[in-house]
Amino acid sequence: MAWKNRESLLQHPLGILPLGRVEGEMIKAVAGAFAGEIGMPLRVMPGLESPDYAFDRHRIQYDAARIITRIESMDLAGCARVLALVDVDLFVPVFTFVFGEARLGGRVALVSLFRLEDRPERAVKIALHEFGHLCMLDHCRESRCVMHFAKGLGHLDRVAPYYCRYCLGQVTYMAGV
Ligand SMILES: [Zn+2]
Ligand SMILES: [Zn+2]
Repeated sequence: MAWKNRESLLQHPLGILPLGRVEGEMIKAVAGAFAGEIGMPLRVMPGLESPDYAFDRHRIQYDAARIITRIESMDLAGCARVLALVDVDLFVPVFTFVFGEARLGGRVALVSLFRLEDRPERAVKIALHEFGHLCMLDHCRESRCVMHFAKGLGHLDRVAPYYCRYCLGQVTYMAGV
């Protein structure tokens, strides 16, 4: 049974999808974190253009929900879940900006590199955090856990680039590794 699960996972890896101008260094850091922290198979997908269709002229930002909906409607090339790295500033209606966005239990998560000042370790934390939401995790009360809600860069820099024991258990269970 375990063998069977493993086989199906290898056929349905986590896709990393660059949108717009995304440095190879960022992709490498995020891929490395998933391989190291969760040990799951990954596939870097061919990059797409920056998501102009989601631009909001009033906010001068990009609508995270529209990007997620668009990617969900695409052929995900056999990937069970997709983590899209984007070079634009994201918003959801209730926040002035978000570092990332994912629907609880969804297939597609977004990570915005826009406010991260080219620091890959910050992208890693957001990627792990949003992936946790795809795995049905809500925010964690443990202040160092990567699932702790980070409002700004100060908060983000204080969380660790890994899950607490409880969250890691949930993620590995949901990811099937
Ligand atoms: Zn969150
Ligand atoms: Zn936690």
